[in-house]
Amino acid sequence: MQLRIAILEGDDIGLEVVPEAVKVMKAAAAKAGLAVEWLPLPIGRAGHASHGHSMPQFTVDSLKTVDGWLQGPIGHNAYPRGDATWINPPLRKIFELFANVKPVKSYPNIESIHKNVDIVFLREVTEGMQSGSVTFAGTGEFRPNDDITIGHRVITRKGSNRVARAAFEIARTRTRKRVTAVHKEPIFRLACGMFAEECRKVAQEYPDVSFDEVLVDGFAMKLVMKPQPYDVVVTTNQFGDILTDEGAGLVGGLGLAPGLCIGAHQAMAQATHGSAPDIAGQNIANPYAMIMSGKMLFEWLGHQRGLPEAVAAAAAIDAAMDAVIADARALTGDLGGSGSTRDMGDAVAAAIG
Ligand code: NAD
Repeated sequence: MQLRIAILEGDDIGLEVVPEAVKVMKAAAAKAGLAVEWLPLPIGRAGHASHGHSMPQFTVDSLKTVDGWLQGPIGHNAYPRGDATWINPPLRKIFELFANVKPVKSYPNIESIHKNVDIVFLREVTEGMQSGSVTFAGTGEFRPNDDITIGHRVITRKGSNRVARAAFEIARTRTRKRVTAVHKEPIFRLACGMFAEECRKVAQEYPDVSFDEVLVDGFAMKLVMKPQPYDVVVTTNQFGDILTDEGAGLVGGLGLAPGLCIGAHQAMAQATHGSAPDIAGQNIANPYAMIMSGKMLFEWLGHQRGLPEAVAAAAAIDAAMDAVIADARALTGDLGGSGSTRDMGDAVAAAIG
């Protein structure tokens, strides 16, 4: 079986880090005997230039034909309001990419607040706060008069159940096999209550995975003080938005924060960082997050489509990245090295062999 993967470079440093991720993925696919058809598609300024919009309908239609895609960051500041501002939330809705999976991993030789951290966060991203609600001008907020603003949060059994199930499936593939649900049920009895109920229901179907629950305020503190015991953490949209940045901060920051938005049939590899216009065009951006997002795409497609070659390609990228980080010579400036974006991509591709 051949995978079909689209490449959407995005803006600014997206034009630099996405090609490095593709280079590494091609090397890993060749090594593992995985057949991939690559499909470049315009988005961001390239979308404007070719189709007059940062997310052309042509691109959306083409994405319906692929198994997954890599998406670089959008430089929102460069667009008129109302154009590029809402690319990510609507895309997640159109393709029902309901969970943003974000690993947080420390490395022995990279400066970080904590060591021996290896957590996978799953943040629900199609409902809750900041999901790009279809009501109230797309933000989930409205202002009935000049003195009052009302924000709303929609939580459904379907949305809670599927993100919980995805968390248990991921936990099953890991050594510690533990899922922690983070919510605030004692206060938000209905919304967090429904989310927690669905997590508990799903937990009963996975007796091989241990399950516990922590209230979000206490969890934020425990994460700062002692993150090591956590394995897979599942939570609602806005709690996840905040906690995943906190998690990235514990192990070295944005440059080390990959992500994969997963749905029922497709997935989108997307680093947490933005388009970093302050360093764009200088060949100094750290490609780690984009490369490891691509690795996650291979891994997810491998399990989803029953393709051991894709799982092997992901494992090859993981091992090569570990080797390049341990060696340290090709690392970019933000990781304490003096390598360029291309040096680091080349080193990872070369380590794959
Ligand atoms: P940013 O993540 O782009 O940059 C924050 C800081 O981190 C900057 O100093 C930047 O140089 C640095 N940085 C980010 N990624 C890096 C990397 N890979 N290597 C080395 N350093 C890196 O956040 P921002 O400055 O707030 O936003 C810039 C633009 O990106 C804005 O237009 C914002 O709206 C957009 N943005 C897009 C996405 C997305 O499309 N997924 C996400 C966040 C921000």
